[in-house]
Amino acid sequence: ASVGGSGTQEENGAKTHILAVPFQAEGHIKSMLQCAISLASMGVAVTFIYPARFHSLARKRSLLPSPEHPSMKAYSSLRFEVADDGLPLEEEQSLTAELLHMSIPIFQKSVSLILDRLLFEEGHALSATLPPISCILSDAVVSWTRQLADTASLPVVPLWTSTATSYSMSAHSPLLIFYEHLPVKEELWLEGKKWMLEAPLVECIPGLSPFPVTDLPTEFCKAETLSDPSLEFLAAACENGKEAPCILVNSVYELECQVFDALRSEGYAVEAVGPFLRHRISQNSDHESLQWLNKQPVSSVIYIALGTVCHLSTSEMHALALGLEACGHRFLWVIRQDEASAANSELLPDGFYARTVAGGRGCIMTWVPQEEVLHHTSVGAFFSHCGWNSILESIWEGIPIVACPIAMEQRSNAKYIVEHWKIGVELKRHLDGSFSKEAVEEALLQVMVSESYRKEAGRIKCIIRHAIQEGGSSHSNLIRFQKLLHSFRL
Ligand code: UDP
Repeated sequence: ASVGGSGTQEENGAKTHILAVPFQAEGHIKSMLQCAISLASMGVAVTFIYPARFHSLARKRSLLPSPEHPSMKAYSSLRFEVADDGLPLEEEQSLTAELLHMSIPIFQKSVSLILDRLLFEEGHALSATLPPISCILSDAVVSWTRQLADTASLPVVPLWTSTATSYSMSAHSPLLIFYEHLPVKEELWLEGKKWMLEAPLVECIPGLSPFPVTDLPTEFCKAETLSDPSLEFLAAACENGKEAPCILVNSVYELECQVFDALRSEGYAVEAVGPFLRHRISQNSDHESLQWLNKQPVSSVIYIALGTVCHLSTSEMHALALGLEACGHRFLWVIRQDEASAANSELLPDGFYARTVAGGRGCIMTWVPQEEVLHHTSVGAFFSHCGWNSILESIWEGIPIVACPIAMEQRSNAKYIVEHWKIGVELKRHLDGSFSKEAVEEALLQVMVSESYRKEAGRIKCIIRHAIQEGGSSHSNLIRFQKLLHSFRL
């Protein structure tokens, strides 16, 4: 099924046309979709590949600029193709690493058929409305697109949907292996705070100050051997990175300038082009969560969400609920449908719902339009797992954060929040990695009461908003990328 892109080539004014291929996980898709919309708003024609599961979720959540949506008129050079990914369409089902892994060949095959159709069968019909595809914009972790691009004689430009810091950690995995940081000797990261003191320091990555080995993405820390699929997956994403004509990064130069400079001087053509938050993809202005927020005082609500994949254990959920109750503030808490349906009836402590939600102090929902929620004046703080999209969305609105990193590169993201930008605190954990009700209460009170985190968050907000304005760093980098796209047509 293909949709959108209705204008003629003249109407669209597009001079180049790219195929945007995301990775099938929601956070990755969202970044790529936002990037595609930003490019389309600059006049680049984009065919965006929608993985089927997300396409179905997005429709339910009024997320995508679907053809029937009025905002699509503004992006006449943006069109969509839905690719089969073999993933369950039901929200109740969690997306596990195994499911994602199994879906890769199905998605790959489907994208390859779509590209063939666009290049050969439909090429002629499409050329009346859009120029021919001259580049594949691929999520960097989708490494099979290189092969696809080679077969079609197209260049491929990777998009890294997280920080330059996490790109650098992954790109330097051969160095980490050389210095015997990998594989990590024991599962140090499981021991919570203890490893923070005892883990060996990594000092070999240019542009990064020495950091404990356990700050590496959890895929690296968990890998018991060098052939661990998660480690190979991340390393493959950056393999041949120096050969890419350009690597787009959904970050801002000013936030990680030393890392960007170091990567560039090593030969990686990284370009910070984020955040892509000017064009909101969600159209949910009357969502129930916002109606509830409308009734709450300014900056009074703590928003709690752990992204689209991570979850807490039952005892951590209890500690979070009780800490939340004890801190006395209002809250809006996202407990995803897959978490709610996987858990037993003891998901929340006895009587918690009656004491808080039923009493009007809190609201629990299975999904909310997060960008709109963070934009709402009633929200005072964000309790977050530190997924990169969530952090960008929070700093875009100047909201302070309680960091509760769980997996992937979230530890190094949390470090930016606490140590570099000082816009929040990290939840204290016990030696075994768990956390208490008291720790939750303390962290929430600190962030809700202290003005300093809000002030610093306002400062970071200005930096990233300035970056995407004309003359700003990300804006200039995107223009440079657009020029590069033009050169691909010659
Ligand atoms: N999100 C949302 N509503 C929710 C929960 C999450 O819109 O109830 C969105 C959120 O705005 C963000 C994305 O899902 O853009 C999650 O991405 P992130 O990188 O923060 O975490 P991940 O899911 O990749 O761990």
